[in-house]
Amino acid sequence: MSLFSAIEMAPRDPILGLNEAFNADPRDTKVNLGVGVYYTEEGRIPLLKAVEEAEKARLAAKAPRGYLPIEGIAAYDRSVQELLFGADSALLAEGRVVTAQALGGTGALNIGALFIQRLLNGRVVAISNPSWENHQALFQNAGFEVKNYRYYDAASHGVDIAGMLDDLRALPAGAVVLLHACCHNPTGVDLNAGQWQQVLEVIRERNLLPFLDIAYQGFGAGIHEDAHAVRLFADSGLPFFIASSFSKSFSLYGERVGALSIVTANREEAGRVLSQLKRVIRTSYSNPPTHGASVVAAVLQSPELRALWEAELGEMRQRIRGMREAMVQQLAELAPQRDFSFVAQQNGMFSYSGLTAAQVDRLKDEFGIYAVSTGRICVAALNQKNLGAVVNAIARVI
Ligand code: PMP
Repeated sequence: MSLFSAIEMAPRDPILGLNEAFNADPRDTKVNLGVGVYYTEEGRIPLLKAVEEAEKARLAAKAPRGYLPIEGIAAYDRSVQELLFGADSALLAEGRVVTAQALGGTGALNIGALFIQRLLNGRVVAISNPSWENHQALFQNAGFEVKNYRYYDAASHGVDIAGMLDDLRALPAGAVVLLHACCHNPTGVDLNAGQWQQVLEVIRERNLLPFLDIAYQGFGAGIHEDAHAVRLFADSGLPFFIASSFSKSFSLYGERVGALSIVTANREEAGRVLSQLKRVIRTSYSNPPTHGASVVAAVLQSPELRALWEAELGEMRQRIRGMREAMVQQLAELAPQRDFSFVAQQNGMFSYSGLTAAQVDRLKDEFGIYAVSTGRICVAALNQKNLGAVVNAIARVI
């Protein structure tokens, strides 16, 4: 009898499990569409030129690696705020926004959830059905009861807005409403401007607490366009939380670059909120790492590097759009019995393809094409070389 003999094996992470199976597959025609990562046309995770330049300068400067302030690099936090709200934002001028560097988008969600649980007595969170699979576990881990609100309508490949609003209205006052600000993961289906307004009204009426998750800013319509929801809530006067991730937009996945922002009523309130947020961070991991955030800050603060980054992000966005359109076009030829045009309307890196779990299994077993059992495919992993095989296989399994 050992100390650990009663510990059961934890269930495998479904997506990491998929990666393991992919790596073990000997077929050289295999394609991994299960990941949540942007790949270039050559099938590589890019090192952005803007990032490379900033890294070179950082190395040359022989920057010391002392501890950062608990809330991270000030210039980074300021740059994050400007990306979210715009440099000319009244909220920023009024000192109403608290921002702390965080360990990726996940770390931002985590410290946000802990803050709400400890300081605002938050007990209930509502997440979209479906959502990024880690949302539920993250909030449960912070002591929340997790509810779902209706979101994706499989029949129309759109949003079930009536169902969503009904479910939001049924939440208890003070409940956290987690919203994907753009490029919804896993469906690729976003709210339009009118629907965002309706959601905002219900949140206001029912006294709910919005928490926007923005992990794909720049992958939808553009950097400013993708901040539409953030700016709508900013104009509403309501308090809200935002988790930012730069994993995808700077291709810095492993550097863990994110931020939590909290919109408060005034400068004095912001000071008190920041002081408590720092305690949450201090007791979690003390202070954040230096490298990734200093690189992102350097890019965002240099007009030249910023322009280069915007161009590179634009290329990633356009390449994904191009793959969506090519996929729709080729499927229209090979599988005319089924309409896949919705794939070109979706935003971001993912598509809810409409494939069933059984069809996804056949894709894997017969063709070495790996997708999530829900039918989610990563469009950002498609390229001119693998698209034909993917489309052929889909046409065969439907
Ligand atoms: N939110 C959403 C919606 C995501 O898809 C992801 C990750 N892919 C995250 C948050 C977490 O981002 P990070 O990898 O920066 O922790």
